[in-house]
Amino acid sequence: MVRVHLTFLLLLVWIAAGGYLVGGVASAVASSVFIVLLFGCVVLHELGHALVARRFGVRTPSITLLPIGGVARLERIPDKPREELAIALAGPAVNIVLAAVFFLILRGAVPARWLEPNAPVTALLVQLAVANVVLAVFNLLPAFPMDGGRVLRALLALRLGHARATHVAARVGQGMAFAFGIFGLLYNPFLLFIALFVYIGAVAEESGEQMQQAARSLLAGEAAVTRFATLSPTSRLEDALESLVHTSQHLFPVVDGGGSLRGILTQEAIVRASGERGPDTPVIDLMIRDVPRIAPRASLSDALGRLQDRETPAVAVVDAAGGLRGMITRESLGQLMLVQAARAAA
Ligand code: ZN
Repeated sequence: MVRVHLTFLLLLVWIAAGGYLVGGVASAVASSVFIVLLFGCVVLHELGHALVARRFGVRTPSITLLPIGGVARLERIPDKPREELAIALAGPAVNIVLAAVFFLILRGAVPARWLEPNAPVTALLVQLAVANVVLAVFNLLPAFPMDGGRVLRALLALRLGHARATHVAARVGQGMAFAFGIFGLLYNPFLLFIALFVYIGAVAEESGEQMQQAARSLLAGEAAVTRFATLSPTSRLEDALESLVHTSQHLFPVVDGGGSLRGILTQEAIVRASGERGPDTPVIDLMIRDVPRIAPRASLSDALGRLQDRETPAVAVVDAAGGLRGMITRESLGQLMLVQAARAAA
């Protein structure tokens, strides 16, 4: 699914207005057409990542278009460095192919009369060809969140292992951010913006990796929330509202008399239903039944993967007999990371 961020539409309006001020309606149309086609190229770039990812069994739930480019949200990063390398290279490769296609068209694949030197189509094709070269080069800069950062990490990971490779790649990215910052101060303020963007990318990638690493050393059962209020399959909406008021929980497991998990009721579902349905509505009509389950002895990183994979509110920790032993949510993981960080600092 391709989403267009609202700020992207603002960019379009801004570009069109700028074109109009410079050269009237014709110029406004030309710059708008260029931007739309350029972002078409960005979408193809992201689809390049998505298609190669699918070959390795990784889905791409969404692609979002922002003014700074596209973001393909992969459900996970493949463990094998070679696969990450192929996925990261696929995007820039698409831009190189597109640039080649535009150059070939300019070199005579279309009737010459379309391509007189001053014809708008010629100008557009030249702009698109150049823009695709720029996109490929920019994306291959060896810094997160650019594809080049992932390429570098994957290449390092062939030798160093994922955690160490991420650390080194993040350092290289921060060094580049610093260099961009200096050039930006001296020559071009736009580089300052890129410097900030690259710096944040490096920090985010490294902290994500630290979370993964911490998760690998813990068991799901050790990390789960084990004290919480539950609802029963016979509970009604009224009971759920009561629980919402008297606890600080955002979700409530629905557990039957035998201790087995039947589903999870979220705060959102409770609030929504309270506006639309009566107080006697059974909670089993409102709950999410399809909750991922994991064994207490499973690695926490499996739970983390499940939480990233799907739009699920929690992962249930369930023993061999099917009894609910605990829950892992994004919020509880956040708390856990705080505790881990405090322990590491002590
Ligand atoms: Zn890319």
